[in-house]
Amino acid sequence: MAWFRNWRRARILKKYPLPEAAWREACARLPLLHGLSTAEMVRLRVLTTLFMRRKSFSPVKGVSLDLKRRLTIAIQACLPILELDIDYYNGWTEIIVYPESFVVMRDLPDASGIVELRHDVLSGEAWSNGPVILSWCDVRHDSYRIRPGHNVVIHEFAHKLDMLNGRANGMPPLHPNMPIEAWTQALTRAYNTLTRQLEHHRRPWINAYAATNPAEFFAVLSESFFTDPVHLKHHEPDVYEQFVRFYHQNPLLRTGAWP
Ligand SMILES: [Zn+2]
Repeated sequence: MAWFRNWRRARILKKYPLPEAAWREACARLPLLHGLSTAEMVRLRVLTTLFMRRKSFSPVKGVSLDLKRRLTIAIQACLPILELDIDYYNGWTEIIVYPESFVVMRDLPDASGIVELRHDVLSGEAWSNGPVILSWCDVRHDSYRIRPGHNVVIHEFAHKLDMLNGRANGMPPLHPNMPIEAWTQALTRAYNTLTRQLEHHRRPWINAYAATNPAEFFAVLSESFFTDPVHLKHHEPDVYEQFVRFYHQNPLLRTGAWP
């Protein structure tokens, strides 16, 4: 029913266009968009328009979430799916936004297997079939200048892509022309390199949080792919290649236009 889907999308785009001034202002503040072609910006605007209609923002604890802030989140959420499709974010609707980092309590087994209640302070979280949760303070910190290797919006939405084929495990649904073995080999090798570096107390080039598990590894490497492609390609060329094939993008080509 592609015709019906296209008709519905065309209707949304016509009926609920993004206000021109707000769109321009939001884009102008996001250096990650520098280097995108005119055609890519048009595509990003279409995706963002659909995203804004499909998703609901729930501000909590008094955070103010005006259109500019919602667009800051939506536009960056749509960057990873620029060459995929808005349907990659199907199956959930809510984006909960806290003013600052938030605390979650969860039961987790410690090294000896004893379950203990842990308090984690988070800047973002993505639930399977549920909401994406973000701290506005962290979003703002990562959005208005490029922080190589850090972007909480891209991180949480990478988890959403990973969750499309079940529990987050570091492997989103690959395209038919992508052999699973090539993905697994590239990411496993890079993951092992990172854990070895940490075991030997060597400072890794990437955020050490990536070593938490394969799901976090994929999310953190996705942050690097979009915000620090030079180093990702230099240190893990095979992973970079796999990400180019999955995201259908080559952010390295944009870096010349970055501030
Ligand atoms: Zn994560």
